[in-house]
Amino acid sequence: MILIAKPIIGEEEKKAVLSVLESGMIAAGKNEKLFEESFAKYCGTKFAVATSSGTAALHTAMGTLKLGPGDEVITTPFTFIASSDSIRFVGAKPVFVDINPESYCLDETKIEAAITPKTKAILPVHLYGQTAEMDPINEIAKKHNLFVVEDAAQAHGAEYKGKKAGNLGTLGCFSMYATKNMTTGEGGIVTANDEAMAKRARMYRFSGMDIKYQHDFVGYNYRMTDIEAALGVAQLAQLDNRNWTRGRNAKILSARLSKVPGIVVPKVLPGRKHVFHQYVIRVLPQEYGLDRDALIEKLKEKGIGSGIHYPIPVHKQKSYSEWNAQILPQAEKAAKEVLALPVHASVSEADAEFIAETIANLAKK
Ligand SMILES: *Cc1c(COP(=O)(O)O)cnc(C)c1O
Repeated sequence: MILIAKPIIGEEEKKAVLSVLESGMIAAGKNEKLFEESFAKYCGTKFAVATSSGTAALHTAMGTLKLGPGDEVITTPFTFIASSDSIRFVGAKPVFVDINPESYCLDETKIEAAITPKTKAILPVHLYGQTAEMDPINEIAKKHNLFVVEDAAQAHGAEYKGKKAGNLGTLGCFSMYATKNMTTGEGGIVTANDEAMAKRARMYRFSGMDIKYQHDFVGYNYRMTDIEAALGVAQLAQLDNRNWTRGRNAKILSARLSKVPGIVVPKVLPGRKHVFHQYVIRVLPQEYGLDRDALIEKLKEKGIGSGIHYPIPVHKQKSYSEWNAQILPQAEKAAKEVLALPVHASVSEADAEFIAETIANLAKK
């Protein structure tokens, strides 16, 4: 079976984790510090604060910016639920704006119409490994005095006009979950350029504490263990290589699939480095001849995994009943059409060709 996601844990990673276990110092310590420094350097930011998950990173960002009840944050409905849940964790209100159908990211041209006197921040998600259109987003933010929080959980190493994801807004939030482009099992990290914000993020992550046992505000335990951090340092060293393999696989898939009627291949937009966290096609059943569910079944029979990211837009979720009446046509259409194919770094060239050929052969002749 060619799985839809598969972490690679090499010898270096195993050695790094084992040495922490043998040291006996397994909670946050020197590896956490090293991981933060290495990750910040990689992104080009001054600071990074490791957390226990991507969700915790997003929550930490909201708390760091002191967002709360009465505040609104503009975000995308086409993402993993944690993007907008983090806004609700602090009592603020997510305001959903539709997506650009080509990038699947927040449609920057629709943001200004959603701004109210309560708007405090914009939270774009760099979906599937490609950044949102950050220049216009940052211009709007500057004009209206808003923070920009990047959800870069799917975009480790992605670039916008030569700058790395995580260094394109006020704060960047990454996930280190097992299926992401790099992993610590569970884990996350917040990137920042402002020293006071980095300090507050650090305190938010650790019980509102800077000086030992002095608590300035109510914080959380969102710390990363040194076991995870050691794995993170070793994974970071492999990130560019593994992203390269993802890019190669995406090229192989697109070369074949772009010729198949009814299949829309992902588009890399100008100025972007896409790191293909997911390789996502649209399936248009009328032209292709099979609907998405049938294609998923046929692929499974051939030993090819696939996935839908995401089948229900956030504003249509049960946990978002207050938002259910809103209509966001592009997000709702994408939810019905998208299908992710295996693209990760364990997918070989032959695998990628086999996946593309299988899909091409199932098309209406
Ligand atoms: C994975 C992911 C998250 C959450 O990260 P966890 O580490 O699973 O908590 C948030 N946003 C997006 C877009 C994600 O893909």
